[in-house]
Amino acid sequence: MTHANPPLCGVELGGTKCVCMVGTGPDDVRERLTVRTETDATETLRRVEGILRSWRTRHGAFGGIGLACFGPLELRHDSPNFGKIGRTPKQGWENTDVAGFFARGFTEPVGIMTDVIGAALAEGRWGAAQGLTDYAYITVGTGVGVGLIAAGRPLCGWHHPELGHIRVARAPGDNWPGNCRFHGACVEGLASGPAIEARTGTPPASLPVDSPVWDTVAYALAQLAHNLVLTLAPQRILIGGGVAREQAHLFPRIRQYLLRSINNYVDIEHAAGRLEEYIVAPGLGALAGPLGALAVAATVGSSGL
Ligand code: ADP
Ligand code: ZN
Repeated sequence: MTHANPPLCGVELGGTKCVCMVGTGPDDVRERLTVRTETDATETLRRVEGILRSWRTRHGAFGGIGLACFGPLELRHDSPNFGKIGRTPKQGWENTDVAGFFARGFTEPVGIMTDVIGAALAEGRWGAAQGLTDYAYITVGTGVGVGLIAAGRPLCGWHHPELGHIRVARAPGDNWPGNCRFHGACVEGLASGPAIEARTGTPPASLPVDSPVWDTVAYALAQLAHNLVLTLAPQRILIGGGVAREQAHLFPRIRQYLLRSINNYVDIEHAAGRLEEYIVAPGLGALAGPLGALAVAATVGSSGL
């Protein structure tokens, strides 16, 4: 089979696995392969490199190589540490030069973003944020991460945003201290899967829908959304990750808490038409991660980041 467009190549580097993908988008995924994220970072990257080389032989040169990587990452182009992982608790990966590894090994342009910015870009290109210029992608999983797109571009200051760690107003009467080892009851310390498990002693997947913990989770996420509304003023907020994906009942609660919290100060419903279209699930489902890397490749392949 021949294809008109050169394929893009994406690598999503996660804490437990790295997913490689070659194709041009969700309707044209030509191959996908996963390798375990070992504590030996170089060994892991070499395995990924081997996959990319064999794909290159079969599919031709890539239009770009996109990396969507767990953080913290240095994304300032003028830093000597550009493309390197910073102080991560992930054993063996601190200071790993992820972008440099691929830039040295391949002639194609290489782009790198955090996993959540990648997912946000993919949702803008192919998913639930198509046509939008200002939006947020929140993941609620092992941690809470947020990717921001402002005026059509990833928003990044001297450091990529880490809004999962903002401190928020607590649900009335709730004084559980939270489990973030840096901040206690930040959003991640209240709403991530491990936080829910630390609080209840039960894996979130086993909790009933009427467990009172879900209200505190929804409340914290609504507070995060409140702060987003008043800073980025996004046209839409997407909430994905394992917890949000599996607990759809959180969505109406988050919307209602957000509405109450904003208290008509700005007209959210006007921004989105309907509140149900303001706080939404992502459109790309389980492929959002590797498609995020492919979206980074598409961006670097066309205009640079
Ligand atoms: P990661 O954040 O590591 O990329 P996920 O987005 O898949 O991965 O999120 C993993 C988290 O989702 C875990 O903390 C897990 O407890 C939680 N999770 C998995 N299944 C469910 C479920 N059915 N309901 C609520 N939480 C779940
Ligand atoms: Zn925190």
